[in-house]
Amino acid sequence: MSCPAQRAADLGLMGCHICGLVVRGRSGHGLLCPRCGAAVHFRKPNSLSRTWALLITAMLMYIPAMALPVMETSYFGNTQGDTIMSGVVYFLKHGDWPLALVIFVASVLVPLLKMIALVYLLVSVQRHSLFRHRERTRLYRITELIGRWSMVDVFVVALLVALVQLGALASIAPGLGAMAFAAVVILTIVAAMSFDPRLIWDHQERIHSHEQ
Ligand SMILES: [Zn+2]
Repeated sequence: MSCPAQRAADLGLMGCHICGLVVRGRSGHGLLCPRCGAAVHFRKPNSLSRTWALLITAMLMYIPAMALPVMETSYFGNTQGDTIMSGVVYFLKHGDWPLALVIFVASVLVPLLKMIALVYLLVSVQRHSLFRHRERTRLYRITELIGRWSMVDVFVVALLVALVQLGALASIAPGLGAMAFAAVVILTIVAAMSFDPRLIWDHQERIHSHEQ
């Protein structure tokens, strides 16, 4: 079994994304899965440009998500806006560093690292990089998985609202920053989904087949 890696795509074989049936044919000809009727294609169509578009939008939304208040607190008639970072500082000052850490990691660090990882994956695929395919595939898997954890932040805000409402001293409303933050979370999740990790391996296998 010293046969070099041959791609199913080279044999004209495609997997249906919906039901998993292996279909033989040529992509881009409106081929439909004979079993479930879904469109069948080799790679996710326009994966790179779609991922770039979603990612750049997410990066732009990250700015208001950090700069605008995520929470507006009204306390005896005084309204105060809190950004994510001012929330982190607030909890640090009050000695609640575990909560400060959770908010900082989930809301500031994770979305940022996720966007950096996606930029790195996109650029490396576009440059036909031959560097650490396996690690890059793992990075993609982590990036896709970690998106769900950004939602931790939503739970933190929900918890805060519940706590303050119990005291009935203040009222809390979500600010514009919260919308921008939700947009960042959703956009990075969809961007990671639209990236086709098989692209990482495409060029390596092409090089191998040239070497034969
Ligand atoms: Zn199917």
